[in-house]
Amino acid sequence: MNNQNVLNELRSILPSAELKINEPLNAHTYTRLGGCADVRVFPNTLEDARAAVEYAYQSNYPLTILGKGSNVIIQDGGIRGIVLNLSSLKSIQKDEEKVIAQAGARIIDASEFARDSKLSGLEFACGIPGSVGGAVYMNAGAYGGEIADCLESVLAVTKDGKLVKLTADELDLSYRHSNVEENGLLVLEATFQLEVGEYKDIKAIMDDLTEKRETKQPLEYPSCGSVFKRPPGLFAGKLIQDSQLQGTRIGGAEVSKKHAGFIVNIDNATATDYLDVIHHVQRTVKEKFDVDLEREVRVIGEPPEKP
Ligand code: FAD
Repeated sequence: MNNQNVLNELRSILPSAELKINEPLNAHTYTRLGGCADVRVFPNTLEDARAAVEYAYQSNYPLTILGKGSNVIIQDGGIRGIVLNLSSLKSIQKDEEKVIAQAGARIIDASEFARDSKLSGLEFACGIPGSVGGAVYMNAGAYGGEIADCLESVLAVTKDGKLVKLTADELDLSYRHSNVEENGLLVLEATFQLEVGEYKDIKAIMDDLTEKRETKQPLEYPSCGSVFKRPPGLFAGKLIQDSQLQGTRIGGAEVSKKHAGFIVNIDNATATDYLDVIHHVQRTVKEKFDVDLEREVRVIGEPPEKP
């Protein structure tokens, strides 16, 4: 089926959703990398999001979920099939000591909403640039906190289009991992169980974390944050630093001189440049320290066609 046919079918099933074909994705990722998406779908309702998943399943059409694009390297050949983006589903509400956020909301906004509601527990997320859905998928965390500490449950869609409510325990959350992908789930909404706190105390923690982040991270360049997971008992950044890899550059991608765990796009890098730097870092750290660095960042899409 060609892209225009898929678009036409989706238009009849999801009349209120925004649809685009053959759109470059580099503008929609924090690394500024990535080829075109065949068909992009932006549902405006939870039901449309569910129906889009069901359509992809029934048509046997590949489906990729993209959040804010802050933890993905989209390859230069782009993404075949449907790319579903929940950026329009971004409401955040409070119910007593719970914050309920739709998956397309920024986790930073959920953190600030909690602070303004005098609820404590999401302070750690105040500088994580992803969506609520992406944060659940990654069990995102920083400065000693992570999603698993405060997530109560999620509303999700199974790969065949059924709505399910799952407890945090059912998502098998561990360090930068959940079972969202292996179970083919689309997260629609997350409920966080928080605690009553003082606005000024919550704000003080968030201000402190923001200052730490701004001092240590190369936020002036496009990147995907920390590229590698922390190996047990070690720090990826320290291993990379001790391998004298900072400043190593291939094409437009460079191991950050400011924070060794980051690879920055300093000059129109391609995804291929980025992946070449990643492989070079993995090989060098293995040779020097016999440690396998596992990627935290997700690599999605197709490599470029060979000339
Ligand atoms: P994307 O990058 O768009 O997607 C990541 C994965 O999540 C993909 O596999 C995607 O399919 C899946 N996904 C996204 N939404 C959904 C959904 N609704 N349902 C199912 N699957 C979904 N991470 C940390 O943990 N801690 C940090 O401190 C941190 N700092 C960062 C700093 C910078 C400057 C940058 C650029 C990134 C940082 N990150 C950090 C990484 C990133 O922000 C997190 O991993 C974030 O949770 C990813 O969310 P996203 O919406 O951008 O997901």
